[in-house]
Amino acid sequence: MSEIRTDWTKSEIEEIYNTPLMELIYRAATVHREYHNTGEVQVCTLLSIKTGGCPEDCSYCPQSALYQTEVDAEPLMQLNEVIDSAMQAKASGSTRFCMGSAWRNARSNKDFDRVTEMIKAVNSMGLEVCCTLGMLTEEQALKLKQAGLYAYNHNLDSGEDFYEKIITTRTYNDRLTTLENVRKANLSVCCGGIIGMGESDGDRLDLLHTLATLPKHPESVPINALVAVKGTPMEGREKATVWEMVRMIATARIVMPASMVRLSAGRVDMPVSEQALCFMAGANSIFAGEKLLTTPNNESDQDKMMFGLLGLEPRKAFKEELEKIS
Ligand code: SF4
Repeated sequence: MSEIRTDWTKSEIEEIYNTPLMELIYRAATVHREYHNTGEVQVCTLLSIKTGGCPEDCSYCPQSALYQTEVDAEPLMQLNEVIDSAMQAKASGSTRFCMGSAWRNARSNKDFDRVTEMIKAVNSMGLEVCCTLGMLTEEQALKLKQAGLYAYNHNLDSGEDFYEKIITTRTYNDRLTTLENVRKANLSVCCGGIIGMGESDGDRLDLLHTLATLPKHPESVPINALVAVKGTPMEGREKATVWEMVRMIATARIVMPASMVRLSAGRVDMPVSEQALCFMAGANSIFAGEKLLTTPNNESDQDKMMFGLLGLEPRKAFKEELEKIS
């Protein structure tokens, strides 16, 4: 059985990452079998509860107020609208419901209180509730936990050196501090990154190294392929290839064996054959629903057909992930 380690060196991860692809997939698939039911894929729905108008300058994001994109700023959604969306998500097979707001950080105000109401309502429906609300203090993380939050998403996006080339309004350390606060509140951590932003293999390795050497591995690791949106500084970038995605997913699977590795943004134009390769390489979670925050995603009917074809089942909610992670 592969060991869960948080003392990986960068050169060890580099060696895995550079393994010939077929061998890498085989190795990742072997680790996957040791820790997971390979017939199960977690299906998560992501809802943007507060869209656009964000003061941050993340170069990949159409929700930044600094870029002229087709995303308009909207106020925080109403509780009943969120409940309706969560019911639809549950009916179409999602077991995790993630709510995202385009905030630099959560502020302790009425909007925050409304989010806690949303968490309570969605939690009572038996869904695992996840939020992504920007930077959090320890106190805010605790309040969210008390409201019934299961997981918090806060991505590191890329390696530390590349980070300042894509975002200038906050630091890598700010991200790590929020991740620490989330851990202190005993929330499940969802943290990953994006490829195809112009970063080098070394930057990708830096990201994987940071994730795999956190005091505890994130329970969920989303791997995104950049969706280059018109109006953002990333407009016109070519999408990462499936081989780059597979290499990234497989390496993440090997160095963080018990984590859920999520095939996230960029899945929309992947044929089933490419998605199947990602599942073979150790991905065991996807986002469902027509939109991923503001960018298009796969239709749930297409996903159902894919699950049928590949013999996959949606994973049930509330299986304890936390206990399996070192
Ligand atoms: S990624 Fe998040 S923090 Fe960055 S601009 Fe978009 S909404 Fe704001």
